[in-house]
Amino acid sequence: MALHSDIERVLLNEVEISSLVSNVAEQITKDLSSSSDPVTIVGVATGAFMFLADIVRKIEVPFSVDLIRVESYGSGTESNGKPRISSDLKIDVRGKHVILVEDIVDTGNTLAILISHLESKGACSISVCTFLDKPSRRKIRVRLLGDGKFYRGFECKDEFVVGYGMDFAEKYRNLPYVGILKPHIFNK
Ligand code: 5GP
Ligand code: MG
Ligand code: MG
Repeated sequence: MALHSDIERVLLNEVEISSLVSNVAEQITKDLSSSSDPVTIVGVATGAFMFLADIVRKIEVPFSVDLIRVESYGSGTESNGKPRISSDLKIDVRGKHVILVEDIVDTGNTLAILISHLESKGACSISVCTFLDKPSRRKIRVRLLGDGKFYRGFECKDEFVVGYGMDFAEKYRNLPYVGILKPHIFNK
């Protein structure tokens, strides 16, 4: 596939993404295979949709899948710090082990809201599975619930990335790779 003309460089190509997803799926499969408790995998829309679709096909234990939608970004590259749940789960997660699937953890604000929300719905453990992690930008520590674990595909620097589900002003989500935008795109 030709490189999109707004992309300055590719951070992770399709082959690298696939191998990162396989690694995380393998860890999750291993951690879940000794238990028969019910598991629900919750994708955080919209950004996690591609990672979710890839990882659920590689986790080799039974689970249910649902989506939750959170909005925080507007169209810029800085979080407004107050994410809001704009569409809730359909599945009842009371007594279930929940794995939250995210595209990227940045300040941690979105996870803080989601984890409190799932805790109040009675989840018995909450794990986080994020494709990318930007720990240098964290404002709130990720607080897991019960024996929940933190899984991540790749740690990235403080750079705004797009593609593989992630957007800038709702564009670029469909790119099959993770890339860095040319600076003039931000400054338009
Ligand atoms: P947080 O609440 O942790 O600051 O960020 C949560 C959400 O902001 C992420 O799930 C993601 O949707 C968005 N976000 C954070 N960093 C980036 C980035 O580098 N690129 C894109 N496209 N979205 C990001
Ligand atoms: Mg997200
Ligand atoms: Mg976004």
